[in-house]
This record gives sequence, C-alpha cells and structure tokens, in this order.
Amino acid sequence: MSNSYYSIAIDGPSASGKSTIAKMVSKILNIEYIDTGAMYRAITYKVLKNNIDPLDEKAVIDLLKETEIDFINNSIYLDGVNVDKEIRDNIVSKNVSYIAMIKEVREKLVHLQQAMAKKKSVIMDGRDIGTVVLPHADYKFFLTASVEERAKRRFKELINRGEDVKFEDIVEELKTRDEIDSNREVGPLVRSKDAYLLDTSNKSIEDCVDFIVSIVNGGNEGVL
Ligand code: C5P
Repeated sequence: MSNSYYSIAIDGPSASGKSTIAKMVSKILNIEYIDTGAMYRAITYKVLKNNIDPLDEKAVIDLLKETEIDFINNSIYLDGVNVDKEIRDNIVSKNVSYIAMIKEVREKLVHLQQAMAKKKSVIMDGRDIGTVVLPHADYKFFLTASVEERAKRRFKELINRGEDVKFEDIVEELKTRDEIDSNREVGPLVRSKDAYLLDTSNKSIEDCVDFIVSIVNGGNEGVL
C-alpha cells in the first residue's frame, strides 16, 4: 500500500448487493463506508424538489453551484439537512440516472469522493469507483446479479418502505437504469480489468462479505 490509508472500490449495477455488503465489510475492517450513489440521489432529490426537469442540464448545473453534499456519521446531508430517507423514494431512483449523466455533476462528486478517500481508509461503492474515482484503489470488486434477483431485492425493499409498486415496473426500471448507466459518455458502469468479479445471485450476503474481507486480509485468493 502506498500510504497508511487504503481503499476498497466496489462497483456494480443497481441492487447487486453493493451497499449491504460494503457496509458490513466497513464494520469488520473498521473503515469508513462511502455510498456514492447516495450523493447522486441527493442532487436528484433537490432537482425534483425544486420542480426542475432532470433533462434540463443548464438548470441542474445552476442548482449544483449552490448545493452542498456531506457525509456525517454515515448519513447524507444536503445543504445541511439529513436526507437519508428521502433519497430512497422510488421517484428519485427513477430519475437519478439522468442526473448522473451530466458531466458537471460527475466532476463535482468525483472530486468530493477523491478528497474523502485521501483522509482515511475507505470502502466506496458506486459505478465508476475502480475506473475513475479511485483507479489506484488497493482492492477492487465488481458485483453482479441477475436482473430478476436484483428486482426481487428492490421490490422487497420498496414494499417494506410502504411504497405501492409493481414487480414488472421494477424490472423495467432496473433495466432502463442499467442501460443509461452503462452507456453514458462520462464514467460509465464498466468492470475495471483488475477487479474481482463476484456474482451475488445465489450467494448469501455473509459469504460475499467473507470473500472480500479474506482478500483484503491477504488470505483466500480463490473463486467464491
Ligand atoms: O447505488 P445506487 O443505486 O443508489 O445509485 C443510484 C444511481 O446513481 C445509479 O443508478 C447511477 O445512475 C448513479 N451513480 C453513478 N455513479 C456512482 C454511483 C451512483 O452514476 N458512482
């Protein structure tokens, strides 16, 4: 490792298990967890709250100039207000990929994320962490799962939150989000060549966590 801090990059499509797994790994290794998706979601929430069309790039960029995003004790703050709950609304999920396509949005957030990783050891999850944000991360993982499995997870999560959603709509929304995230010009979702590939479809969360921790601890280098 190049300095006393180290970094773990976790990338993958929506609902592949990244955040649940990254959170558990962060506790075991006693390092900071940074959910970069939450940052894109916070901006999207503000755009929608201000009745701005997510496709109106100029208006989004203007709003961005007067927007502050922070993590405090694993919570996300938008202009000083905790928005942990609001950013998980399905309306935010449906629109976030349009906001995440905008170059200026990505530049601002990537810069913030890189600054966070300089101050401490981190496990950071997102779409472009191993490729753009932390290309020199000490450990990189790319998580996948079938679209059906991912839709099941997201559907359960939304129903538990009391949202009125249809399973078929969730499948379509995930496919649309994957398509936009994978094909955008700036920071697309792609597996970094040096990332371990981990298909979480038929594995328990604990097995995935153990796999990552064992690699970081210099143990098991095998296939899960
Ligand atoms: O991880 P999560 O599903 O919460 O991310 C929400 C959205 O934020 C993604 O669908 C993607 O459009 C965007 N995102 C991104 N780059 C990241 C993290 C998230 O473009 N590093």
